[in-house]
Amino acid sequence: MSNVLTLSGEIIWVIGIVAWYVIRYPFERRAKRIRIVSSRRSPSERVGLVSALFGLAICPAFYVATGFPGAADRPASVWAIVLGTILFGAALVLFRISHKQLGRNWSVTLEIREKHKLVSGGPYRLIRHPMYTSFLLMALGQAFLLSNWLVAVAGLVGFAILFFPRIGKEEQMMIENFGPQYLAYMERTKRLIPYVY
Ligand code: SAH
Repeated sequence: MSNVLTLSGEIIWVIGIVAWYVIRYPFERRAKRIRIVSSRRSPSERVGLVSALFGLAICPAFYVATGFPGAADRPASVWAIVLGTILFGAALVLFRISHKQLGRNWSVTLEIREKHKLVSGGPYRLIRHPMYTSFLLMALGQAFLLSNWLVAVAGLVGFAILFFPRIGKEEQMMIENFGPQYLAYMERTKRLIPYVY
């Protein structure tokens, strides 16, 4: 029974991560055609992106493929799989909606595009970083779907290494570009969790 549960969680995670890439791919392609007017690419940005990729994709994929490190396995349970599915599903919905809202203003890193507009609709009405909220939901979903403590920690740490150094720089870049408009937008929104943080 436990093996069936473990396998179900892994299959759901694989479907989720494929869906994640299917959502992202068209935006990556489109972004290549839109001119960048200012960029904050930096080595620390790169470290953040690689860490998130490692914690949220490479490490769990390696675990699903090889079962390593089995020493950190925990028992699977129905409630964990259900909760993980809900969290990962919510992450994908938010990920898709945020991409749609950002549209041509989206970038994988910190960049201002030609004719960049400040987006404040949809989830951006309440929070400034719904895409990062979706990463956090994904890391939590991964922790419940895959029954391994190390994989759980890897996802959360990967998220943290991307999020914490980046967030201040991103908001600074937006303030420099949009001035009072962004400052007013900050006044009426939170970062990740509506009304909380
Ligand atoms: N932090 C946002 C966006 C991530 S994509 C989120 O989590 O949803 C990163 C790019 O989005 C940045 O380079 C920045 O140029 C752009 N961006 C961030 N917030 C934006 C907003 N409210 N309107 C328009 N572009 C935004």
